[in-house]
Amino acid sequence: MDAHPIGTHSTDTLLDLLNSRPRVDGEDQDALADPAGGRRWAREHGGDGGPAELALLREARDTLQAVVRGEAPPTALSPLLEGVRQIPELTADGLRWRVETPPHARLAVAAVLAWAATEEQLPGRLRPCANDECRLFLLDRSRANRARWCSMAVCGNRAKARRHYQRTR
Ligand SMILES: [Zn+2]
Repeated sequence: MDAHPIGTHSTDTLLDLLNSRPRVDGEDQDALADPAGGRRWAREHGGDGGPAELALLREARDTLQAVVRGEAPPTALSPLLEGVRQIPELTADGLRWRVETPPHARLAVAAVLAWAATEEQLPGRLRPCANDECRLFLLDRSRANRARWCSMAVCGNRAKARRHYQRTR
């Protein structure tokens, strides 16, 4: 079976999901916590935003975060793939594999599959931001592979300012 190229779309969903629990001004927030906000998030990413979908998205997110942080083994994601099948389909462009999931599991499964494809094609490039007070993740696609912060503008500059402060104190 051919490896699936990582679609930018599903990688974006994966990163957005990992980053749906940011710490803002020292307070932990959760974009999927309340039903209205969660529904909006899911719909923006192609889901229906129903309670079953949101529950599974939260579970997928928390497990993915633990796996990316190295706090849980990748096999912790296995339950999320239960009942998922791949169906071969002949199209005008040739053979294509369609992933079949229960409807409410589609987004969570897409995130897990995007994570697996990222690990295979960009191993070690998905990581937590190096800022201890930040809860975000980044995918480093650069050749140098030295990105440490979710954003240079926010966490990168904060780290630089801290080093400067420590040097000049
Ligand atoms: Zn950060």
